[in-house]
Amino acid sequence: MKRNFDVAVIGAGAVGCACALWNQDTGLDVALIDKSGPTDAASYGNAGIFSVTGFAPLNSPGLIRRLPKLMFDNDSPLSIDWVYALTHLPWMLKFLRACAPDKVAHITEQLANITNHVEAGFMPLAKRAGAEDLIKDIASIYIYSTKEYFEGDAASIESRRRLGADMDVIDQDEVHEMEPHLRAPVYKALRSNENKYIINPGEYIERLKKCFASDGGEFINAAAMSCSEQGDQVQVRIDDGSTLTCNKLVIAAGAHSKKIVGSGAEKLPLDTERGYHVVYHGAQSKLTRPVGWSSGGLYATPMETGLRIAGTVELAGLNKPPSPRRMEYIAGMANKMFDGLGEPDETWMGFRPTLPDSVPVIGLAPGKRNILLAFGHQHLGLTMSGITGRVIADLVQGRAPNFDISGYSPSRFG
Ligand SMILES: Cc1cc2nc3c(=O)[nH]c(=O)nc-3n(C[C@H](O)[C@H](O)[C@H](O)COP(=O)(O)OP(=O)(O)OC[C@H]3O[C@@H](n4cnc5c(N)ncnc54)[C@H](O)[C@@H]3O)c2cc1C
Repeated sequence: MKRNFDVAVIGAGAVGCACALWNQDTGLDVALIDKSGPTDAASYGNAGIFSVTGFAPLNSPGLIRRLPKLMFDNDSPLSIDWVYALTHLPWMLKFLRACAPDKVAHITEQLANITNHVEAGFMPLAKRAGAEDLIKDIASIYIYSTKEYFEGDAASIESRRRLGADMDVIDQDEVHEMEPHLRAPVYKALRSNENKYIINPGEYIERLKKCFASDGGEFINAAAMSCSEQGDQVQVRIDDGSTLTCNKLVIAAGAHSKKIVGSGAEKLPLDTERGYHVVYHGAQSKLTRPVGWSSGGLYATPMETGLRIAGTVELAGLNKPPSPRRMEYIAGMANKMFDGLGEPDETWMGFRPTLPDSVPVIGLAPGKRNILLAFGHQHLGLTMSGITGRVIADLVQGRAPNFDISGYSPSRFG
């Protein structure tokens, strides 16, 4: 195995693969390091939506108002492990502080700024990897079952529209005409006209990896443990005790990025919003497009292999096993959304990487010269993966990206 590279990327989820491919595109010799099974990454189990309108952060003043109900109600899209919350109080407080209206407005602008460029990062990679057949170009819809839910989102809808999101409000009849199998009550729905979706996110990642390898990239099946800058190079220690060197190292290990000792990531307030999915094989014919449901905090997506119901947020860290109660909740909501689903054929839990201000870090690690960070894409990592890779490739080349990336600086946490 080779031991010296221009660039090494740690993590082969959507973000790491995009960083590896965009750097390879500039003619560099790139290594991509990952040891996980194919279903371990958040990039495998998401709802598949390439969401150019979804740049509303979880942080919101409304969330604070609803928090007591959300926390003590088992039938809730948000679940918090209290022991975990109390032992991770600084992160929780930072997250709650970012729910203030001025902060939410700033976060929404930062997310909109990068979302404006996601097509330019994503589509060339999909084309290069021969994955365009996995992309379905169809508007998604997001339903509100009551006036209260709809009005609770009014400020977010308004600010996203102001920032360019192409969304229109449709009524119950139109929703049922589009999706006759949907049983969830509809008061109003938002249609996002420019969204697309990936019918098999796991296969999409596999195609990116195959393309990387067939274009001469080195895939290293190992876990990276630590790294250190040595002169103009970075040394990476991997779990078999060996080391490799590179001129630039990119940390794109999603919610696990903090574990890579010496990278600078360990000092950032990265945590995880755990999310779940259930799949009903053969039931994808119940929908023609992804449909979100605000009451459940989830999306139903007609995937290649079945109907996937994905979403919810659980704050419980990286170590606890998946919660059967969360699975039951999401399966229960699925059965309220559609008739005749019964028991799911597959269940899954994954780790969204989340910083308390819901904005990713993309840039040089604080105090480092050759280590770049690319993680924290929370609910939008599939969508933002391509553009993140493109920005990282620019930074490796010493070029300024074609939009302002100062808001994603890892140094913003001090
Ligand atoms: C239920 C759910 C629904 C979602 N729906 C959507 C959606 O519809 N649209 C959207 O845009 N986003 C969605 N997301 C968010 C999106 O999936 C994530 O933001 C995105 O996948 C994060 O990508 P990533 O590459 O940063 O991390 P990951 O996909 O988690 O990949 C990280 C990789 O790093 C590897 N790794 C970790 N530690 C090491 C190490 N030490 N050495 C080597 N490798 C390591 C892991 O094995 C893993 O493969 C959803 C997420 C969830 C959970």
